[in-house]
Amino acid sequence: MKKYLVIAIKWVNVEFIKNEIQSYFNRIMTKQEIDKIRADFPILNQKVYNKQLIYFDNGATTQKPKQVIEAVSNFYSKTNSNIHRGVHFLSEKSTAIYEKSRECVKDFVNAAHVEEIIFTKGTTDGINLIAQVFGEKHFNEGDEVIISEMEHHSNIVPWQLICEKQKAKLKIIPFNDNGELIIEEFDKLLSEKTKIVAVTHVSNSLGTINPIKKIIKKARKFNVPVLIDAAQSIQHFKIDVQELDCDFLVFSGHKIYAETGIGVLYGKKKLLENLPPYQGGGDMIKTVDFEKTTYADLPLKYEAGTNNFVGAISLMVAINYIQTVGFDKIIEHETQLFNYATKKLSSIEGLKIIGTAKNKASVISFVLENIHNYDVGTLLDKMGMALRTGTHCTQPVMKHFNISGTIRASFSFYNTLEEIDLLYNAILRIKNLF
Ligand code: PLP
Repeated sequence: MKKYLVIAIKWVNVEFIKNEIQSYFNRIMTKQEIDKIRADFPILNQKVYNKQLIYFDNGATTQKPKQVIEAVSNFYSKTNSNIHRGVHFLSEKSTAIYEKSRECVKDFVNAAHVEEIIFTKGTTDGINLIAQVFGEKHFNEGDEVIISEMEHHSNIVPWQLICEKQKAKLKIIPFNDNGELIIEEFDKLLSEKTKIVAVTHVSNSLGTINPIKKIIKKARKFNVPVLIDAAQSIQHFKIDVQELDCDFLVFSGHKIYAETGIGVLYGKKKLLENLPPYQGGGDMIKTVDFEKTTYADLPLKYEAGTNNFVGAISLMVAINYIQTVGFDKIIEHETQLFNYATKKLSSIEGLKIIGTAKNKASVISFVLENIHNYDVGTLLDKMGMALRTGTHCTQPVMKHFNISGTIRASFSFYNTLEEIDLLYNAILRIKNLF
């Protein structure tokens, strides 16, 4: 009996190991796969200053696959017509594709209802919308809003504006010198006075992946809604809004391989239904009379005027594209790039990585001793490399580290290990120049 048990355990283990190995090989991208992906992004195949372009500024905006570029061009060539406004063939067709895009986003983030997906101009627009309508309805003198020290200006200023108007206060969760939120401090800030918590999922300047599930759970105990800024996470890993149980989530299309000027606000139906409208105009009304106007139901209540319907369609095509590549492969490849770059760059004397959290996305910010970040960025540019320099719209983060800015490399699944080698060599050359 014991003998058969041992054989069975061994067999199970062998199967388990076999499955693990198989699943690893399924996840890694082969050279052919990366070449095929790169061929989909025409912009990558060009020279700047006579050098092959290396694009490491994906945190600022991502490049567009030809599938997105062609879909937009085809739409304008064959279908273009305003949405929700006509009975004619083209208008009905445009409307149907626009609403199909909304369904696509709903499935992508696993929202419970399609009405929970509002098309916006981008992350900034979505945060301003919630700050204004939620703040106007719920903030009173002395109430508090919690954000974190690592927020993008887009998740600071909209809250400051509404807090000033309603005489509410902004409270800040600090981070430690690794760039990790100090959760015990969040515990101390949460109280009966807290009206909303708004935090970034991934820091654009530090790369930290924040423990948003934990934050949401804690806020839930006080019945406080949570807004997640997913501008830097939606393109890197699968997000399930129901599993997270977040109340609002925002992101920008241009950071997830779609067009500029389109974004998404997800909001729980019950919450959005009970909030006032944001902007007034066409599409967001049921009836208009000089005495009284009634408003459209969700999602149109928050889509005043002609929305960027072509952008929404580009977002659907971009989502389909990354789903074809697959998040398993995206995560594996970007992790490989990130680990390799971290190891290589940290081996350079005088180079300091800013943001050394245990849990990071594929973003590396760094400074070079005695060389200004703009000088490094300018020299890298002349070598054909696009990296972001400066404060990355996170001035409080720079203040924390007492620095004027950093150089940031942010990777996408179309980047390669060879490109990182070239970046490493370029930094050594810059160091030698100074
Ligand atoms: N939040 C984060 C974390 C970001 O990185 C950015 C842009 O870089 C934004 C918000 C603002 O995004 P957008 O300019 O697309 O509105």
